[in-house]
Amino acid sequence: MRDKSDILVIGAGVVGGAIARELSKYKVKIILIEKENDVSYGVSKANSGVLHTGLYYPPGSLKAKLCVEGRLMFPKLATQLNVPYKLCGKHVIARTEDECKDLENLKNVGENNGVKGLKIISGEELKKQEPNIDAISALYSPVAGIIPPYLFTIASAENALENGVKILVNTKVLDIKEVDSGYKLKTTKGVFHSTIIVNSAGLYADRISAMIGLDKYKLYPCRGEYLLLDKNCSSLINSMIYPVPPKVAGVLGVHLTPTLEGNILIGPTAEFIRNREAPATTKEKIKQLIDGAKQLLPKIPLNQIIYAFSGVRSKITPPEEKDSRDFIIQEDLRNFFNLIGIESPGLTSAPAIAKMVVQMIEQNIDLTEK
Ligand SMILES: Cc1cc2nc3c(=O)[nH]c(=O)nc-3n(C[C@H](O)[C@H](O)[C@H](O)COP(=O)(O)OP(=O)(O)OC[C@H]3O[C@@H](n4cnc5c(N)ncnc54)[C@H](O)[C@@H]3O)c2cc1C
Repeated sequence: MRDKSDILVIGAGVVGGAIARELSKYKVKIILIEKENDVSYGVSKANSGVLHTGLYYPPGSLKAKLCVEGRLMFPKLATQLNVPYKLCGKHVIARTEDECKDLENLKNVGENNGVKGLKIISGEELKKQEPNIDAISALYSPVAGIIPPYLFTIASAENALENGVKILVNTKVLDIKEVDSGYKLKTTKGVFHSTIIVNSAGLYADRISAMIGLDKYKLYPCRGEYLLLDKNCSSLINSMIYPVPPKVAGVLGVHLTPTLEGNILIGPTAEFIRNREAPATTKEKIKQLIDGAKQLLPKIPLNQIIYAFSGVRSKITPPEEKDSRDFIIQEDLRNFFNLIGIESPGLTSAPAIAKMVVQMIEQNIDLTEK
């Protein structure tokens, strides 16, 4: 037996890192296991990096609750962890009368979710804030923000490490067995034993769950491609610019996101793929991104595109379903906690997910603060 822990967290993405950090406040032995070379090598390294406010998720859902709670936690948390962030605000723009009605709906959903400060503004008002954007009207969300997702993940994991969490990279979980006193894990670095398991393996969470016989989950990988504009374009927009979301489950449409480094991100696309390890970019989707960006910002300088990349969403919603399914965060077996389908707004929600998981664990074992 290589190592024993009270709680073993599988997956050092933004969610596993936040959970390990939250747990590190208590007198328990925690191990965080990651199959890749370093933390933040999964979905958490390539996404929009947006701190969402909660416009898109059905009131009462975990996505709505955890997104709103998580977003509110970020300013303090990012400051504590010394991670840069900016509440640059966001405009969802309407270019037809029908889209203006959609903005009203988004505003209502947001307000029902407890989002503060939402305002519908005219095209003229928008022009004052965003001189390069044309629209009939826009929904303004002043508290939406941006953060480099990898920096936040690394900082959470480092803080957990400083607080005594053991982090093992290059350690892939291969099999899990239930034993009398908890769970026995076979990994590429030997056998581990833990009383409690938290499965936050992102795109592979369904496979981890299946290892223990819970094969009821299936994740549908959905690739999102991006283009990056050079920093000399930074003055083109001052806030995030989103279209009214298309009527596709969990997809927000190609948008423009300023980065803290001064670039502008264009994307993401949404394409269901078979292979989870396929972070490619394609000619077809690059064209779609350029068309989408031109609709938001007609004078976008295409010769300033300097990079293309993609990330893969871990969707629990099958491609044929219209409405996006909620996050699954539950104790599926005694002391075995599954986190499945943690797609967007998973980054924003991560700190609140961590608090929720700790509260669930607290029902089973004594958590004494250090
Ligand atoms: C295109 C795109 C855009 C997005 N935009 C946003 C956004 O703007 N705002 C927002 O809030 N959210 C956004 N998201 C969602 C957000 O990125 C995810 O919800 C979040 O990163 C999920 O984190 P995670 O820790 O669950 O997964 P991951 O980061 O994938 O972490 C899971 C980890 O588990 C490891 N692992 C898997 N299997 C094993 C194993 N067998 N043994 C050991 N380790 C294993 C993986 O290597 C990985 O590092 C976006 C996602 C995508 C794809």
